Amino acid sequence: MKLPRLAGALAGAAALAVTALGAGAGPAAAAPYCPAGAKAGFAKVQLFADGNCGGGSVIVKIGVEGDRPNFRAFTNYDGKVYNVSNTRSSVAIADGYCIRLFDGLNYGGDQSNVLCATSGTAYYGLFAFNDRTSSMRVCRASAQAGCARGGSGATPAPNPTPAPNPTPAPSPSPGAGGFPRDVTKASDAARYDDAAAWAGGRNCTGGFTPGAKRMQAWLRANYGKASIGGYNCRPNTANPSKTSIHGVGRANDWFRDAGSPKHRKQVADFIRRMSANGAAMARAMGVQYWIWNKKQYSVRGTSVLVRSYGGPNPHTDHVHLEMNLAGSRLQTSYWKLPGAAG
Ligand SMILES: [Zn+2]
Repeated sequence: MKLPRLAGALAGAAALAVTALGAGAGPAAAAPYCPAGAKAGFAKVQLFADGNCGGGSVIVKIGVEGDRPNFRAFTNYDGKVYNVSNTRSSVAIADGYCIRLFDGLNYGGDQSNVLCATSGTAYYGLFAFNDRTSSMRVCRASAQAGCARGGSGATPAPNPTPAPNPTPAPSPSPGAGGFPRDVTKASDAARYDDAAAWAGGRNCTGGFTPGAKRMQAWLRANYGKASIGGYNCRPNTANPSKTSIHGVGRANDWFRDAGSPKHRKQVADFIRRMSANGAAMARAMGVQYWIWNKKQYSVRGTSVLVRSYGGPNPHTDHVHLEMNLAGSRLQTSYWKLPGAAG
């Protein structure tokens, strides 16, 4: 179902932040996605005017019509009423919750996959659902059937159970292995650097870049012994006219097994640390992209966009982890801290 675009649209790419608060959700876990005024016991959707949850915003309560935010009554920051917002391009989901988007009202039309945040707030690009979301179901990560078209979510529990506390990360000691502790802010801009043309391998680096080598040491210092490799002078499998990032020494394959709870926990912790505080660590280290367990993660702006990954290799036995050029040269801010560059 194609929905009409509306005049007076929010400027730029808009983002939806789902803030579903249970009684147990503390203020620390809620920031910065819970506006002052958010109350325990109901879910809230906040629509922002840009992709980084900034600019003007509107708040739409969930619960008026079951678990469907009333997209027909969006009131934007200019005081205008929308039938439907037409510029959403990403969504932020608070820990412990899932959503499913529909391109029709009343959970009709096409539906997205269930998008869940189970470890830290997750960001998803809406891609195919850009400009066409008109209803949405929210459910607990522990009760995803509530996000289905015929799910039980339409009748919200009067007293929703508190959001499950995220499993505390195995908290590596700050400054593991002599590396500086994680930064909570970084002035480095997110940046994606593609590899050069294949040109018969002329642009290969002959080995790992200094940044990729330090990243290997950082991973081992923080998560223990692991097989990490991935220098390989070859064309990009998806685009043979380009060199693979593996051929320019900026991609590491960190072998972790998605079937191992211990490894899964480690990677979840890694993702949490890269994504926290506006992706400060990812930006400071010059991390640009990674793939793990059928999902791909792109550092964009001050967020990490998570999408499903449908490539031939599901990456269930390793994390493919790329650095941008500045990071590979140890020129981003983290690597300038004492002890970081070795
Ligand atoms: Zn790889």
